[in-house]
Amino acid sequence: MRVHFMSDFKLLVTGCKGRMGQAVIDAADAQGVPVGAAIDVGDSLAAALELSHCVIDFTSHHFTDELLAECLKQKKSMVIGTTGHTSDELARIKEASKTLPIVFASNFSVGVNTLFWLTRKATELLGPDFDLEVIEMHHRLKKDSPSGTARTLVEILADVRGLEYDKDCRHGRFGDVGARTPKEIGVHAIRGGDVVGDHTVVFANVGERVELTHKASSRDTFAGGAVRAARWLHGKPAGLYDMQDVLGLK
Ligand code: NAD
Repeated sequence: MRVHFMSDFKLLVTGCKGRMGQAVIDAADAQGVPVGAAIDVGDSLAAALELSHCVIDFTSHHFTDELLAECLKQKKSMVIGTTGHTSDELARIKEASKTLPIVFASNFSVGVNTLFWLTRKATELLGPDFDLEVIEMHHRLKKDSPSGTARTLVEILADVRGLEYDKDCRHGRFGDVGARTPKEIGVHAIRGGDVVGDHTVVFANVGERVELTHKASSRDTFAGGAVRAARWLHGKPAGLYDMQDVLGLK
């Protein structure tokens, strides 16, 4: 017999035909959280949302504005796992979180959130003499680049060094680009096969190098984390939370 989290609490899973949507439906079942509705392209968002208390979204950033508007209208909480948002879309998520409780995380795995913590610590300890580079690899079908997780890693590095993502991030290198500057943070996206998600942060100095690596071999870790986030979010006040909040790492 499956024990249900709360008999009247129901999830809406958006992108239910996708890789993550499928994994979220399985994870919800494993955690005893009922799925009230599951939709993909062409289905009615408004009708599905009425049947649910919280949405877990792994779709496309092009869908986020429509989803935010409907969740604001129906006052539903949100777990957003979709990545690749523009600065304007990110600002609208932040604005909506003044009214709604939202967990927005570029990665829902315990391992990657530990990597975030370790990256901050290592950057602080190693100091400004180490050059910073981030390398990520994902399956051949991934659309956005760099990954949301790589972006979060660069944001952590930039935050510790007093740099800015938009200004100091260097996406790949091609041609006669000259020597690397001490300030730049390099980001490199590799695509191929069925890789679920690999991320390495390189701290390179003259004579030594530190590398922190996480490799995901299953989407279940992201999906399980997203369902855990939805459960944690239930009853929370409006605000923008991330997985570090859910895991109590702050
Ligand atoms: P996918 O292409 O397998 O699935 C996306 C699904 O969303 C598809 O079925 C698509 O039809 C559906 N969709 C797109 N637009 C829609 C709309 N307007 N309405 C309803 N459904 C819509 O992709 P995926 O691998 O499942 O990844 C989805 C997103 O999640 C990507 O942005 C990816 O980067 C991100 N992701 C995040 C994490 C994390 O931990 N935060 C982990 C893995 C993937």
